[in-house]
Amino acid sequence: MRQFLIAGNWKMHTTPADAATLGKAIAERQNALKPSSRVQTLICPPYISIHAALENVKGSGVLVGAQNCHFEPKGAFTGEIAPNMLKAIGCTHVIIGHSERRQYFSETNALLNKKVKAALHEGIVPIYCVGETLTERQQDQTLQVVRTQLIDGLLDVSLQSASQLVIAYEPVWAIGTGLSATAEQAQEVHAAIRSLLKELFPNAGADMFILYGGSLKPENADEILSKPDVNGGLIGGAALQADSFAAIVATAAKLSVS
Ligand code: PEP
Repeated sequence: MRQFLIAGNWKMHTTPADAATLGKAIAERQNALKPSSRVQTLICPPYISIHAALENVKGSGVLVGAQNCHFEPKGAFTGEIAPNMLKAIGCTHVIIGHSERRQYFSETNALLNKKVKAALHEGIVPIYCVGETLTERQQDQTLQVVRTQLIDGLLDVSLQSASQLVIAYEPVWAIGTGLSATAEQAQEVHAAIRSLLKELFPNAGADMFILYGGSLKPENADEILSKPDVNGGLIGGAALQADSFAAIVATAAKLSVS
């Protein structure tokens, strides 16, 4: 039996009122679908919309996470949010190292390593993102780039169980572009990630969730999620519509029992 995590990254979309409406619509579809416990559903709104989303998904089983965090528990870091604050409001997961954070906010593997450890310390599951740019893929550097992001970003991380950490493989050239990796391209990188995770975490790597992200939508979900080392998706655009997000959850639900 396969397990999946379907996660929506709402990016800088939704006011609290919008998040309430979208959260409610997602919860309604989740209640209608009632996927088994083998499929987890997660939404990651902007910080200020987390509370509204949480209030509106209550009782549906939909989890709520954040898109970023600081690595310190408190202090003079104007504009930042600490992992313990996310925990206090009810977040279960936090996205760390999304390529937009790496690209527009100069977040390095060393910084992201601190964030991963800080989230783990609070008992929040980091969704650590890795992925190559188009130039890196064209220069045949994909596996090396992803390997370095994992080795440096997960330096000195120790895990008791596979469920404490999630990896998202997101080819940068496929994010928000409408261009998706083929299922074969995704599987090739996911298999390489799996093999490295087994080396880094001999007790957990085999069972860790590796999500695919990059223009995942209802039309390509079945093909990509069917691949053996793909355990779900991190979804941007298609997560902002309750119907398309629910269709991807439904695909995972079908594959989880097939
Ligand atoms: C993302 O934001 O992580 C993402 C994969 O976006 P999109 O699905 O829109 O490509």
